[in-house]
Amino acid sequence: MRIDVLTLFPEMFQGPLNESLLKKALDKGLLSFNIVNIRDFASDKHKTADDTPYGGGAGMVMKIDVAAKALKSLGRREKHRIIYLCPTGLPLTQPKVNELANFQNLTLVCGHYEGIDARLERLVDEKISIGDYVLTGGEIPAMVLIDAVARQLPGVVKEAASVENDSFYGELLDYLAYTKPEDFEGEKVPEVLLSGNHAQIERWRRKEALRRTFYQRPELLASLEPRAADKELINEILTNG
Ligand code: SAM
Repeated sequence: MRIDVLTLFPEMFQGPLNESLLKKALDKGLLSFNIVNIRDFASDKHKTADDTPYGGGAGMVMKIDVAAKALKSLGRREKHRIIYLCPTGLPLTQPKVNELANFQNLTLVCGHYEGIDARLERLVDEKISIGDYVLTGGEIPAMVLIDAVARQLPGVVKEAASVENDSFYGELLDYLAYTKPEDFEGEKVPEVLLSGNHAQIERWRRKEALRRTFYQRPELLASLEPRAADKELINEILTNG
């Protein structure tokens, strides 16, 4: 997948894209990034990319002529989605992330200041928000989107099962995970995990995932199609806690 990012602050991407999973995905050629500085497309000698809002009011607005020139310089490609990160967009959920992972090209437009001139909307395929709060710029939202989408690309996360068990991938939250030491300040790892009995471990994990979802995010269970064995597990949770 190729990801183009349009931003006024390209250096913000240096760290996050060059560490951990994203760095490995880059090294394996599963992902490539092209970070474009919108300011390079300003035509005046001061490289002005923002201006005061028509109608008055606080703050500065990013200029549409400059942003559009930057966007158009990339052209339209096959299986391509152009996204403006924006607090008024559709929420970024796991199904949306999975949908975006099917594209070969993503272009992410990051606003700053009071946002980008409203005429940008005609030039993008969709607006995506990472939550009902306002950040200073679209750079951190773009990084969130990139990280979430990258995890869904085949080969980026070593074992597909670790993505499939993640919270929100299915209807259940992830099960509880433990590692050494076996005893931490008197709190012990559940015995079943030390038993080597894979069927029992699977059963325990499913039950814990059901329990966590039931108590912490019950609304997620509305779309659960219970497995045959789930009824017994749910009864046990309701009876014994
Ligand atoms: N005045 C705008 C509003 O209230 O809708 C907020 C502008 S915000 C300070 C500047 C830029 O940050 C936006 O253009 C957008 O790119 C980005 N941004 C801020 N919060 C965001 C969010 N929750 N999701 C996605 N992008 C966000």
